[in-house]
Amino acid sequence: MKQYYEIKAQNPDCILFFRMGDFFELFENDAEIASKILGLTLTSRNNGASGNTPLCGFPHHASERYFPKMVAAGYKVAVCEQVEDPKLAKGIVKRAIVEIISAGTSMNEAILDAKAASYLCAILPQKNTIAFSFADVTTGYFAVSESPIPNFESELARRMPKEILVPAGMDLPQSIVEFARSENILLTTVAEEHYEWKRASEVIENHFKVTSLESLGLDGQVEKTRVSGAILWYLIDQKKSELSHITHLELLDLGEYMVLDPSTLRNLELVRPLNADDVRSTLMSVLDYTVTAMGGRRLREWISHPLISVRKIEERSEAIAELVANPIVLDELKLALREILDMERLLGRVGSGRANARDLYGLGKSLSKAVKVAESLSSLKSPIFHALAETLLSAEGKGDDILKILNDELPITVREGGMIRTGADAELDRMNAEIQDRREWIASLEARERERLGVNTLKVGYNRVFGYYIEVSKIHSDKIPPEYIRKQTTVNAERYITPEMKECETIISSAESRIHDAEYRIFCRLRESVNAERHELQQIAEAVAETDAFFSLSVAARKRGYVRAEVFEGTGIEIRGGFHPVIVSANPDLAFVPNDVSLSPDAHRMMLITGPNMAGKSTYLRQTGLIVLMAQIGSFVPAESARIGVVDRIFTRVGASDRLSRGLSTFMVEMIETANILRNATEKSLVLLDEIGRGTSTFDGLSIAWAIFETLHDNPKRAAITLFATHYHEMTTLADSLEHAGNYQIAVREDGDKLIFLHRILAGACDSSYGIHVAEMAGLPSEVVRRARKILLRLEKSHIDPSDAKQVEKMREQPQVDMFASPDEDTQLLLEELRRLKPEEMTPLQALQTLTELKAHYAK
Ligand code: ADP
Repeated sequence: MKQYYEIKAQNPDCILFFRMGDFFELFENDAEIASKILGLTLTSRNNGASGNTPLCGFPHHASERYFPKMVAAGYKVAVCEQVEDPKLAKGIVKRAIVEIISAGTSMNEAILDAKAASYLCAILPQKNTIAFSFADVTTGYFAVSESPIPNFESELARRMPKEILVPAGMDLPQSIVEFARSENILLTTVAEEHYEWKRASEVIENHFKVTSLESLGLDGQVEKTRVSGAILWYLIDQKKSELSHITHLELLDLGEYMVLDPSTLRNLELVRPLNADDVRSTLMSVLDYTVTAMGGRRLREWISHPLISVRKIEERSEAIAELVANPIVLDELKLALREILDMERLLGRVGSGRANARDLYGLGKSLSKAVKVAESLSSLKSPIFHALAETLLSAEGKGDDILKILNDELPITVREGGMIRTGADAELDRMNAEIQDRREWIASLEARERERLGVNTLKVGYNRVFGYYIEVSKIHSDKIPPEYIRKQTTVNAERYITPEMKECETIISSAESRIHDAEYRIFCRLRESVNAERHELQQIAEAVAETDAFFSLSVAARKRGYVRAEVFEGTGIEIRGGFHPVIVSANPDLAFVPNDVSLSPDAHRMMLITGPNMAGKSTYLRQTGLIVLMAQIGSFVPAESARIGVVDRIFTRVGASDRLSRGLSTFMVEMIETANILRNATEKSLVLLDEIGRGTSTFDGLSIAWAIFETLHDNPKRAAITLFATHYHEMTTLADSLEHAGNYQIAVREDGDKLIFLHRILAGACDSSYGIHVAEMAGLPSEVVRRARKILLRLEKSHIDPSDAKQVEKMREQPQVDMFASPDEDTQLLLEELRRLKPEEMTPLQALQTLTELKAHYAK
């Protein structure tokens, strides 16, 4: 226990898994926590004076199952192994931490999402900016950047790291702490010294084996150096291995991408659904036809990082257009991609010394298929495909170099032979040949002895404890020759050995242990030679990922009938026949009504959209946002045609937010998000606002909505393209009076007492909000509906402010029946109801019922 306490004291923030013989054991508080999470039985161990110590444990081979569970539950796992052979140890076996696993550094497939990167992030807040680094230890991705805080928040939301390292003793921006808490991101404090420039520089220089930071582009970049040094230190410290697969440091320029703030990412459901169960509600789910896990990750990256350079967007969309027109190439690509494994993560296993022979074999097979991908791409003309094909062609021969050494069937372990192909190594072949005749002798022993003894059921077998044996069932005991020596008795049989067998076994087993060592050496040599080429291999893997992402977008475009958008430098959105990609794909039977958008700075730049609830306002807003975004990814878009002036940011304020759990009221969230828009929108932005001002009293809400609309119209710096859906009809007069704004409505038709939603966008304002109508359709009791109509009439006539307590109180003081006793109002309401009736469609019984109801209500 003394040894345990020493190690525990060095890792106080971890759950310590302590190796004892074949078991991992946990003690004290760790045992209590782990027993609950892992479902282990808690026992106790008498620990002398300190009384009973809680204890639990499991066989070491179950760790693959238990460690990830612990990490997924938000804990850090410290793995303490015996680091010397217990047989050779004097006194207590030496033990040491061999790895620390936390959410951001786990390489275990059980908790990794194949189609999402697994990021660890480190931050270093400055006055107005923040230096940050992202690393994915599973693939070796490593990048650093510095940006204003809002841009970093956008990046944080897009990459959704699993863990964020923060320097000890530093105040963090509240928004980041809040974000981490709401997304269950582990915040790990790292001692300040690891952020010191000198120390950080050394860590980086040592890792990349460079003598100055200049070659990495970090010259003079103090904060970036500090933050990337800290993250690298943490990774190396946790993994306790080399991490040679981290081969370069990317200097990220967030300026290349459209800014998407966390609320837009969430509201537009790009890669994550608003509601966790709705996995099919994301744009990713509609566009994802990727075949490989790497391609899936790349596509996800593209979707959350739309481009803003027209040239780059066009390069991509041109490539997609070419693939869309080449179904044969698409078919070929699919076949080749299908056999390519997650090379990026396999290389990660190689670089961190975890790869087994199966991993290398998988890499070898994938490399050969990468050449096939290159061959398919070579018939295409787009410069992007040329470049990809060239990179992929460099895989030529590399796969065979691996495959010619390894067997086709491989074990999981690397120390027990069975890995190396005959013919791959002369020395190994010679060693095998030496015992070949003995092996054959054993192999043919069964047939020989069956014949000799005349026992057809005689078997020759092998087990680890007894070695080779001859098994004869008990009924044939009388046929056992004298040289057979009994070794073991089972239920129905006896097991024997002969002196000859014993001798043969000794020779084989000593030769085999030498063969296993030799195989292991050959395997390690192969692993090293693969690792030496890691940089090139990573580029091949990246080229596969990119090809797969192109493949996916092209297949989606073909299957879903998308078109290529024209993207231009400048402002304006022109969409014909646009549709919502997710709604249409999730509801194939829905007769979705396509709609147009036509906005430019010279004509209407702002749309004020009215229409009853359920008309399709939110859908129209979101589909416009998604079409613009898809165009800037370079993807084809769901429309008949689209011309999109590149936007720098998409802002959204739509729908109910899930931030209530953070203790903010809906209205507060709405205002925070709107404030962000009004502070940061530019004339190149796209702003989507849905039902602003709903969370407060009518006049408050109307006034706020009014002022926001005016500001976006009048302030040239904030002159964004804006789609503004509202239920405040009062605002339609405002939109009429503004030069760059127009009134639009989503059409509905009244049909008797029914509302028919046409879902079509038309110029002009909608004349009524139909709220009560929709409520009636939803089945609100007719008495409540009638009363609502009365109240509405009264409010409209007498201009009572429903937010004014005194006025409302006065209304409430009068008995309900008297309150609207004016014969005028009743007559008006009665007439309205009569107008809606369709006697020709009523049964006599319904007619009588209606008459009785009307009488009861209006003529008591
Ligand atoms: P609102 O924001 O006006 O309340 P929504 O956008 O939420 O309305 O749409 C309400 C419903 O109408 C949605 O369930 C959607 O499936 C359907 N809908 C919206 N737009 C269309 C359309 N263009 N064609 C067909 N159905 C639509």
